[in-house]
Amino acid sequence: MKKMGGAWNMETTRKRSRIFTICAVLVAMFCLAVGAGNTVSFERMMNQVVERYVSENNQQVASQISYRLKMGREFVSDFADTLSRMPQFLLTEDFISRKTAAVELEGLMVLFEDGSVFPESACPDYLSQWFEKNPDIWEKQVTSYVADQNLIFTAPVHYGDGTEAVVVGLQNYWSIKALVFRADYQEQGASFLIDRKDGEILIADEKSALSVTDQQLYALLETGRELEGDGQVYEAVMPNGQEVFVSLYEVRDTDWVQAAVIPSDFLMAQIERHMDVYAAVVVAVMVLLGVLIGHLMKENQRWERLSVTEPLTGGWSREGFIKLGTQNTEGHRLHEWIVVYLNIKDFRYINESWGEEDGNLMLQFIYRMLSGLINEEELVSRSSMDHFFLLLKEEDDREVNRRILKMKEAVNERIRCKFSEYSIDFAVGACRLDIAGGVPTAMNKAIYASKLSDTDNVCSFYNAGIANMLEREERLNTLFEDSVKNRDFKVYLQPKVSPSEARACQAEALVRWFHPQEGVIYPSEFIPIFEKNGKICSLDLYMFEEVCRLIDRWIKEKKTLVSISVNVSRFHLREAGSEIWKEYKRILDRYDIPEGVIEMELTETILLEENQIPFVKAVLNGFRSCGLRVALDDFGFAYSSLSMLKEFAVDTLKMDRSFFVNENDKSRKIVGSIIQLAHSLDMDVVAEGIEAKEQVEMLRKMGCDLIQGYVYSKPLPVGEFDQWREEYDR
Ligand code: C2E
Ligand code: MG
Ligand code: MG
Repeated sequence: MKKMGGAWNMETTRKRSRIFTICAVLVAMFCLAVGAGNTVSFERMMNQVVERYVSENNQQVASQISYRLKMGREFVSDFADTLSRMPQFLLTEDFISRKTAAVELEGLMVLFEDGSVFPESACPDYLSQWFEKNPDIWEKQVTSYVADQNLIFTAPVHYGDGTEAVVVGLQNYWSIKALVFRADYQEQGASFLIDRKDGEILIADEKSALSVTDQQLYALLETGRELEGDGQVYEAVMPNGQEVFVSLYEVRDTDWVQAAVIPSDFLMAQIERHMDVYAAVVVAVMVLLGVLIGHLMKENQRWERLSVTEPLTGGWSREGFIKLGTQNTEGHRLHEWIVVYLNIKDFRYINESWGEEDGNLMLQFIYRMLSGLINEEELVSRSSMDHFFLLLKEEDDREVNRRILKMKEAVNERIRCKFSEYSIDFAVGACRLDIAGGVPTAMNKAIYASKLSDTDNVCSFYNAGIANMLEREERLNTLFEDSVKNRDFKVYLQPKVSPSEARACQAEALVRWFHPQEGVIYPSEFIPIFEKNGKICSLDLYMFEEVCRLIDRWIKEKKTLVSISVNVSRFHLREAGSEIWKEYKRILDRYDIPEGVIEMELTETILLEENQIPFVKAVLNGFRSCGLRVALDDFGFAYSSLSMLKEFAVDTLKMDRSFFVNENDKSRKIVGSIIQLAHSLDMDVVAEGIEAKEQVEMLRKMGCDLIQGYVYSKPLPVGEFDQWREEYDR
């Protein structure tokens, strides 16, 4: 992890969190500015609303009072007029009480010059005094208000005989007070009716929380007086510092002023409670959002890290290697950089003999060793299984070789400290970035190069030769489909002959590709390519069908049948799984092939491949259930143990050519015992790749059943095989 920690991940995370912080601060500042601007304009708007509210309310109260007064005044005036034209004897109590009922007056009476009042009962006590204090009632109409008593309307009556009287109408003071109080300021503001002339407050709203003393009120009134016009609303500050709006409306035809005083934050206070709830909700949502975003960011970082981390070694994964490698090499001269691929040779056997846990420890150890040997800026990654990648900053190929050798030695030195005698080797391929372009392409090309490495060179460098091979690979891949359609793949048959002439001959079907442009292409070239990309599956089935067709033709032509074996690639087996035989059965069902005529050649590696006896059994039994025989091809080439043979129902054992290439006494003994063992398990034995007559003689003596090799014949096209067979039969 040494090289990993500081680089890409941390840097990116730091960069991101810096950007995030700047964004967050900018957003916060923007929100604050918007919030502040909004608050100011909101307050201004609220003030305007309050101003309008208090003004409209107060005006309404003032005009209602005016109206009420006008009604009273007009009634009293009309009544005075009526009286002046009416003989006095008609003025009876009944007449007055009828008049009173018609309007909402509490009392109606006439005051005469001698001080008498008619009807006397309608005159409250305080009124005589009031009459004395207001002598002008004899000259003009008067409207007045006596606190807690009445509203008084008077109008002088001028009789024709020169006598004078005054009509006095009383209205319940509550009717006016109710009007004054109608302006509802929710006990925060207050409404007043003021007599400007006497400087007397006629009605005051005592319920208000706003404590306005008389003095303060007059002061406000004075300020108002200085302002021009009626209906002014102005702002004032109370002695206790409270800001208020004051509205003044004159009550028409009187000296009265209807005043309203209301705190300027009247509405704000109203909505403050709601605002508080709203703010609390906003804060809660913000906190929740913050927590959520924090959590998401953490998760995101975790995932990001996981996606570039390889769990076993804790180092860079393949994706991490690509990301950081691309970043590190950006802006550099690409030929300075080289991607090196290391694949531990035969790691499978380390896993099998040491166990998976120790195998993992070994991989971790190798990772640590490699990461200890790279320089700053360089990278190491375990991409999968036993595959490692290095990104080295090294211009000279010889230097790359030297460093790889040093790494191998360092790894093996440490391994030998623990397990003397033991050492591991790597298949190593490398590709320069300037050849490949990007890091991922260089990785693929390094893998490709590693496959061409041999024991003589430390590392196989991707070069023009390899590039040509890759090109050829790609070309063959593109030609495949059309060639299957055009049946360019041909069946060649190689005879298998009984050395003792005790049996009829058999044959193995081997594929040859006759391409109209490319010419003959041999399986050794194209099979590994098609095994890589899975095309081998369709090729296997194609060959099987061709063989079925051939046997079908032989049957129709009434020829003696020759048993034919067909190869099944281990990659096909891996791809199709234990039910692979079903694919073959579908083809077989289309032809009428007798049982036991076709034999399926499975390479002995299937015994190791899955390492699962039930799997192999299912495959073998599946084929046998369709009337197909089963052979183990290339037996002895890999590491299968002879003892495993007894577990499986195999019809034929094909001994690999390697037994017969550099023969010696030892190998001959092994061949002899394999034949014996196979026979004891009821298997036929075929020896492959036999080229010399002496070998035939030896195998005959050992009891080998069939021999396949150039000693009898090379693989032949079907027509030539037919001829060969006729000759052989003769
Ligand atoms: P194999 O199945 O072990 O086939 C035997 C190979 O040994 C054949 O090579 C054959 O021509 C060669 N051979 C036979 N006798 C001698 C001899 O005396 N000396 C030498 N030096 N070689 C001999 P071929 O046809 O090139 O096939 C190579 C391999 O390709 C086959 O090995 C098999 O694994 C694969 N293959 C061939 N045809 C098919 C096919 O249709 N399907 C699949 N999956 N694989 C095939
Ligand atoms: Mg074969
Ligand atoms: Mg073989």
